[in-house]
Amino acid sequence: MTDRIREFLRTRRPDGPCLVVDLDVVREKYLSFAKAMPDTRVFYAVKANPAPEVLALLAELGSCFDTASVAEIEMALAAGATPERISFGNTIKKERDVARAFELGVRLYAVDCEAEVEKVSRAAPGSKVFCRILSDGAGAEWPLSKKFGCDPAMAPRVLDHAHRLGLEAYGVSFHVGSQQRNTGAWDAAVASAAQIFREMADRGITLKMVNLGGGFPTRYLKNVPAVQAYAQAISDAILTHFGNHVPETIIEPGRGMVGSAGVIKTEVVLISKKSDDDDVRWVYLDIGKFGGLAETMDEAIRYPIKSERDGDEKTACVLAGPTCDSADVLYEKDPYFLPVSLEIGDELLIEGTGAYTTTYSAVAFNGFAPLKSYVI
Ligand SMILES: *Cc1c(COP(=O)(O)O)cnc(C)c1O
Repeated sequence: MTDRIREFLRTRRPDGPCLVVDLDVVREKYLSFAKAMPDTRVFYAVKANPAPEVLALLAELGSCFDTASVAEIEMALAAGATPERISFGNTIKKERDVARAFELGVRLYAVDCEAEVEKVSRAAPGSKVFCRILSDGAGAEWPLSKKFGCDPAMAPRVLDHAHRLGLEAYGVSFHVGSQQRNTGAWDAAVASAAQIFREMADRGITLKMVNLGGGFPTRYLKNVPAVQAYAQAISDAILTHFGNHVPETIIEPGRGMVGSAGVIKTEVVLISKKSDDDDVRWVYLDIGKFGGLAETMDEAIRYPIKSERDGDEKTACVLAGPTCDSADVLYEKDPYFLPVSLEIGDELLIEGTGAYTTTYSAVAFNGFAPLKSYVI
């Protein structure tokens, strides 16, 4: 929570649930990535929070952008980024979308199989491609599945195919899992990347770039290491596995760039019990899984929730959203402790919600409007 957000909520008193994002925090985060990793280019993962003000600030600060669709490319361009500062980082693209990206000037693409290489070679001839490899995501609170990336052993064949089809086989990428609290998580993936660089060199092809992905955390209830600690661990891994042949590197922070810049204001709609002897209270908010808090799925992300009554004694609560879907429960297996004195109509502040909230919010499930966002 920042003074600017507190002041905004106090003076503007917006009605209904809303996210407030403080651009000063985004600026501070960008600068801390740039300072901790001065030789690494930052490609902000647009999906985390594509608010035009956020993109414009990052473009002005010199950030590049990792995009996953034509719409995200257009948003980055509209914010002032030039096409050389944009990558099409989704490994699953329609060929006509690749063609559109190429028309817009984008020349850097992610692939993880030969079929995707073929699409890129036809629709974006001569472009640079990097091959995404699988990473197990161990240690991440929001791990990624096997959906993206190929086995590292397959990557040389994919990159060789790109080379033969006239693309520039440019490098290797991976993502160690989102909200990765283990700074050591990059080491194994960097080792795989170095192995792929060597195999490609044996084939006479010089790769240049390692895309270290996202995974940098936001502070929720538990402490997380500082950006500097990640930078040190990654730099150690590169030195260990690449020796003197240090590759070009890029990072793609999403959550770590904007998560801590946002606070959601919500209101308690109902407090009830399911039976007379129930010792857990049910607290229903005006925002839930469909209003932007999708990352509470499997209770994976536990947000800090603040109330004006935080000094009072606390009791176990099941926390749920306002919609008529029984899946719209935020925390139940591991109940959330809120003040006994909490009342219907109280406002709560959900911190660390600058990333993956507005973009996850449904259009109008049960008629509830998508999450409103104010960028200040
Ligand atoms: C979502 C995504 C990111 C951002 O991940 P965070 O964990 O939020 O930093 C980075 N790169 C790619 C390819 C992504 O899909």
